[in-house]
Amino acid sequence: MTENPGREADLLGRVPDGLLIGGRWRPASDGATFTVHDPSDGSVVKEIASATAADGTAALDAAAEAFPAWAATPARERAEVLRRAFDLLQERADDVALLMTVEMGKPLAESRGEVAYGGEFLRWFSEQATHVQGRYGANPEGTGRMIVSQHPVGPCFLITPWNFPLAMATRKIAPALAAGCTVVVKPASLTPLTTLFFAQLLLDAGVPAGVVNVVTTKRTGPVSEAILSDPRLRKLSFTGSTEVGQQLLAQAAPGVLRTSMELGGNAPFVVFDDADLDTAVDGAIAAKFRNIGQACTAANRFLVHRSVADEFARRVTERVTAFRTGRGTEEGVTIGPLIDDRAVSKAADLVDDAVSRGARVLTGGTRLDRPGSFYAATVLADVRPGSALLREEIFGPVLAIVPFDDEDEAVRLANDTEYGLVSYVFTENLARGQRMVERLETGMMGLNVGVVSNAAAPFGGWKHSGLGREGGAEGIHEYLQTKYTLTPDPFA
Ligand code: NAP
Repeated sequence: MTENPGREADLLGRVPDGLLIGGRWRPASDGATFTVHDPSDGSVVKEIASATAADGTAALDAAAEAFPAWAATPARERAEVLRRAFDLLQERADDVALLMTVEMGKPLAESRGEVAYGGEFLRWFSEQATHVQGRYGANPEGTGRMIVSQHPVGPCFLITPWNFPLAMATRKIAPALAAGCTVVVKPASLTPLTTLFFAQLLLDAGVPAGVVNVVTTKRTGPVSEAILSDPRLRKLSFTGSTEVGQQLLAQAAPGVLRTSMELGGNAPFVVFDDADLDTAVDGAIAAKFRNIGQACTAANRFLVHRSVADEFARRVTERVTAFRTGRGTEEGVTIGPLIDDRAVSKAADLVDDAVSRGARVLTGGTRLDRPGSFYAATVLADVRPGSALLREEIFGPVLAIVPFDDEDEAVRLANDTEYGLVSYVFTENLARGQRMVERLETGMMGLNVGVVSNAAAPFGGWKHSGLGREGGAEGIHEYLQTKYTLTPDPFA
């Protein structure tokens, strides 16, 4: 199956298989392990430690112990450690990309793109670290001086999903470290290897012992509960499904933890009759099929003006039928496997439901008859109201087109969801574009573009899509708390 089995075996041999606690790699306290699989054929990739709840607490011990010294480290030094990590990531980019493809399935070119994107958080927050500022000034009465200062919140618990194994980790770790916080990271059990490899890179870059700790586990609930209920924890940052995010918010309530929640999406992709169709089709392919459709920012519902719906469908179908499906390491592959068979069943059920309600299959619409978790890249036209895939995240390579008749209807359909992460709008009419910016209930918007992610931008959602922002100038403030001090007028 592999293009270069020797290279993969060598790389996998260099991935740590233990828990990182207090700067040292060690097995789970009860010796338990679990296996990581290659979704392109189901084969076992590596066996790694499965933390116990006590290991979770030990990781928090290390983070709490390391916190005072790291918080007191000059911002410039923290920035330089992050910058060294950025440079090391460039050197090891090929290894990190291959590892992501092997454990998660995305084509190698996309993994390289994620290394570039994920690395930018290290560079961006190395720059932000030295720009945290407070303020000083007279109070309105003139009787005193107000000092406002920023302080790291303390030890943080970071939980990441499987779909972007590197970028979801750097998007949390980099701002936390820049702010002076220490962390316990729990990567998704489906794709923990990238985080383990990256954690060693952080140690190599000079991150002190205990500042970054990693617990991989199959006993996710108990490990997470032990950490969340510990009074030394001050912050939870989670990326994953809205359902798990809601549970974690409830668990964070007793400790009144600061929380950042990057949750699910149901992005509308609106194409008006005045859109440049070539631009819209390019945007649609990127917004739908990047990461094999497994992105929180993936366009979920293509709302297309009735007068251009057939032509849009014809052009996207032409592009989709030219895709090449296979293991992400193979030359020219554009569509890899889904993360597991559950994801394939979900895509299949959603397509079958839409078809039973009248949608037309223009291409795909089936599981692929080969080993691994593959579902065919699919285009559906005339998707009817009430179809489940208009309400639920598809998280697969299925492009579903719904025609609309006027702008008000497009806005109503686009906002008809409890999610509000990102929206895409294609129009050449400037005023219409501006109206859509104002009318859509969304944390982010692509106006004539199909990918919006950038380390310098505040990434995050409205409504059930989450709380807080990652990236941008906002990102570091998720890990800072404000102190206000009043002193008397020094001239009085
Ligand atoms: P998930 O099932 O919610 O899992 C996400 C993480 O939470 C994993 O590390 C998982 O660990 C952990 N987890 C699950 N149950 C837990 C519990 N009871 N206590 C503590 N941790 C728990 O989501 P996913 O399937 O990995 O990721 C897909 C979802 O993430 C989609 O909804 C997608 O939209 C969302 N997402 C959002 C963003 C964003 O920025 N808004 C970005 C990427 C993805 P285990 O692996 O051990 O179960």
